[in-house]
Amino acid sequence: MGGFFGIASKQQCNYDLYYGVDYHSHLGTRRGGMAMYDREIGFQRQIHNIENSPFRTKFEKDVDEMRGCIGIACISDFEPQPLLVRSHLGSFALCTVGKINNEDALAELVLNKNHHYLELSGGKINPTELVASLINEENTIAEGIRFAQRMIDGSMSMLVLTKDCLYAARDFYGRLPVLIGKNDDGYAVSIESFAYEKAGFDHYRDLGPGEIVRITAEGIEQMQATDRKKRICSFLWTYYGYPNSHYEGVTVETMRYKCGEILADYDMQEGIARTVDYVAGVPDSGTPNAIGYANRTGIPFARPFIKYTPTWARSFMPTSQKQRNLIANKKQIPIKNLIEGKKLLFIDDSIVRGTQLRETVDFLYRNGAKEVHIRSACPPIMFGCKYLNFSRSKNELELITRRKVLELEGEKGMMYLDQYGDFSTDRGKAMVKAIEEEMKFSSLRFQSLWGVTSSIGLDPEDLCTYCWSGKE
Ligand code: SF4
Repeated sequence: MGGFFGIASKQQCNYDLYYGVDYHSHLGTRRGGMAMYDREIGFQRQIHNIENSPFRTKFEKDVDEMRGCIGIACISDFEPQPLLVRSHLGSFALCTVGKINNEDALAELVLNKNHHYLELSGGKINPTELVASLINEENTIAEGIRFAQRMIDGSMSMLVLTKDCLYAARDFYGRLPVLIGKNDDGYAVSIESFAYEKAGFDHYRDLGPGEIVRITAEGIEQMQATDRKKRICSFLWTYYGYPNSHYEGVTVETMRYKCGEILADYDMQEGIARTVDYVAGVPDSGTPNAIGYANRTGIPFARPFIKYTPTWARSFMPTSQKQRNLIANKKQIPIKNLIEGKKLLFIDDSIVRGTQLRETVDFLYRNGAKEVHIRSACPPIMFGCKYLNFSRSKNELELITRRKVLELEGEKGMMYLDQYGDFSTDRGKAMVKAIEEEMKFSSLRFQSLWGVTSSIGLDPEDLCTYCWSGKE
């Protein structure tokens, strides 16, 4: 995935930039980068590998040395960035967040004009460099950004730093948020709203889909108005957005309470909720759902296990699934008297492959749980994400839902994915039952599509729900 942060200020902003982008560390694990411009020193840029050490540790010396009242920074899950570019548009730094599905065709388009690319290891082209080359196809940076957005199949939000200003652009359909904060000295741009609020900026506004703005310490100029429908990613609220953030005016934490309340309403209708001793969340994003569920039902909220975080603070680390499972297991420390002989209801943000949840449930049974009921705070994930580099649903064949459909009906079942994704249908019920049995859950229920969209509370037409509904 990845995230970015930028500032244009009347004051030196190296530290605000450093802390602001660090608050995006939950969105990526591979590379971090900062670029600043200072009238006396010029452009400065640093990139580090952050796979084994947090952003702040890696950049603590650089931030002391960097100078400027304007800068951009990013956390990247793939390529090194920000890139420093010199072209007919002048010198600029660029960072991007998004996914390019037609990378080869776009690279070919630029290569046919006798341009070149620096190759990354593995022979891949740096996607941010590809975006830079598309920007350079036009006569101004704003026109170049628009051209890049038009050409890219997928999504692409970006931040450009020049000697005089920042350009911020939100992807064409607004799959990810791009937010602006303001204080007396200037403006900040961010994916996460709390990143600039902690630096003393007030929320100013969300950019619209496809909108491009030019930002200086003195003001914001709109270079391209929003001109299309919004399809913001619903998973932002369900899973990967930080609880303190708000997007389109909807706070992540309170959305999750609401989602838990709706799950509780289903269970109260069917009487299941009355029989459990404790309701708990699979940390971290399951926890607020469990608070909502507990508040609605009156069943005590508890934390039957707690993650040991002082040395394993980062939930995305490392990149290998096997290592992740091992670390997840090492982190989980049980509280025996909340588990032994108890009927527990756990809420997880989603069920993807199911491997980690299966291990959590085994761990609870090993520690003496009598029953473990599972609720998923989102509907069954039936489709891989086409729009973002979103790890949860990258490989459709690994999804537990697809695996169960194949087991139940073979390839023919792929024609009925919409029915499988809806637990009010016979196919949906059969799939839920099959997952419940394989995973040894005492009961399983998924949130409905309606439950998610009404917890968010925006017009459903403004929300992307593709990975659940398959509707674009
Ligand atoms: S497909 Fe899923 S993960 Fe991707 S943007 Fe849409 S809702 Fe988000």
